[in-house]
Amino acid sequence: MKRKRVVILGATGSIGESALKVARDIPERMEIVGLAANRNAEKLAEAANKVRPESVCLADETKIDILRKALDYEPRIFAGEEGLREIACLTNGEMVLVAIVGTGGLRPALAAIEAGKDLAVASKEILVMAGEIVMREARENGVHVLPVDSEHNAIFQCLEGKVFESRKRPTSNIEHRTSNADSWMLDVSDVRRIILTASGGPFRELASNKFDSITPEQALKHPTWNMGPKITIDSATLFNKGLEMIEAHWLFGVEMKRVEVVIHPQSIVHSMVEFADGSTLAQLSYSDMCFPIQYAVTWPYRVPNTLPPLDFSKLSKLEFFVPRYDDFPALNLARRAGEAGGTLPAVMNAANEMAVAAFLDRQVSFPSIWQIVEEVMNRHASVAHPDLDAILQADQWARAEAAGCVKSLKR
Ligand code: NDP
Repeated sequence: MKRKRVVILGATGSIGESALKVARDIPERMEIVGLAANRNAEKLAEAANKVRPESVCLADETKIDILRKALDYEPRIFAGEEGLREIACLTNGEMVLVAIVGTGGLRPALAAIEAGKDLAVASKEILVMAGEIVMREARENGVHVLPVDSEHNAIFQCLEGKVFESRKRPTSNIEHRTSNADSWMLDVSDVRRIILTASGGPFRELASNKFDSITPEQALKHPTWNMGPKITIDSATLFNKGLEMIEAHWLFGVEMKRVEVVIHPQSIVHSMVEFADGSTLAQLSYSDMCFPIQYAVTWPYRVPNTLPPLDFSKLSKLEFFVPRYDDFPALNLARRAGEAGGTLPAVMNAANEMAVAAFLDRQVSFPSIWQIVEEVMNRHASVAHPDLDAILQADQWARAEAAGCVKSLKR
């Protein structure tokens, strides 16, 4: 396997940091050619000064001078939303790791696909919002969409042998084309169930009558994973797992009814696939995002690294429980959104983003997050098979509606 040239969008975040670690760990397999962030100019410059990619980008144009001053070499500097799209399409890049929190990664991801780049997707929000469009564009442009989310990466690993090279990449992208790999198709006809594991978050065992008094500090303490604030709150409400159900539906082309969730507090089994013959395959490792990031970068190869393998003598138990669906309504809301399709998943995602921000800002209670999302979903008239504009419109509409709900629920 040759070295893969990767652009990281969201380089200053938790996934970005793990990706930089992977690149340090397997330098003969992964080269970073571009780094992008939103507004953390100092942290971006610090990473760039170490890795020295040929290009960097900051979405917040007002911070460009700070970035320029903090850099100790002269890379190409991109800025703004347009800059994000440009760095995602670098001639020299082969793969774009989309690790931008929220919806900001959608347009750069689509631009990268159009330019013939493979995607490694951590930003589940973009598949929830626009999974139909992203996967269709990927197919039409002959690029791979590799899952970074640990659960989906686990499922992808369990589906090894079910991936079929289907057709050559189209010649229309030949000038951008950087890899000779063919496009692929997944055969999931004998998959009975995809079983996503969830840690259950910090309130897995908390009585529901105590939910009202949960503070942001308590919700930000994840028992097994160290992640950015938005996804940590999503893990506590189980909206993270809800988003992942819809992500799995699009990534693997399975109906929502074949996607299930099981609570697994130890976060060692990262997900499972049950096949038609009743056999189940699972992927296990310690909870470190470097594992899935590396697999997405080196797929279809496996290469040695310095990550610790599982020590089974120290694993005292692996437990599995049925989720508390009534107490954590996020899973039911996500199933409803995923089954309805159209613009409803984008609405759920946007309302959730607003509700999480309001909770972190201490404006609303923890259970209000579910309440706000449900209320906004109830008010929405979903558009079937929306184009990008319709999705972005629904996203904006949901944000405005959610802001209204926050106002009325303010503590
Ligand atoms: P963080 O909050 O830690 O980092 C977010 C990153 O996105 C930062 O680099 C931030 O830049 C950047 N960013 C935010 N908005 C924009 C924007 N508009 N344009 C460009 N860059 C932007 O998040 P995580 O790393 O935890 O999560 C990133 C994504 O990966 C999320 O979608 C999450 O759901 C997903 N994910 C995360 C996992 C984890 O373990 N953390 C696991 C699986 C999936 P800046 O620092 O400058 O603000």
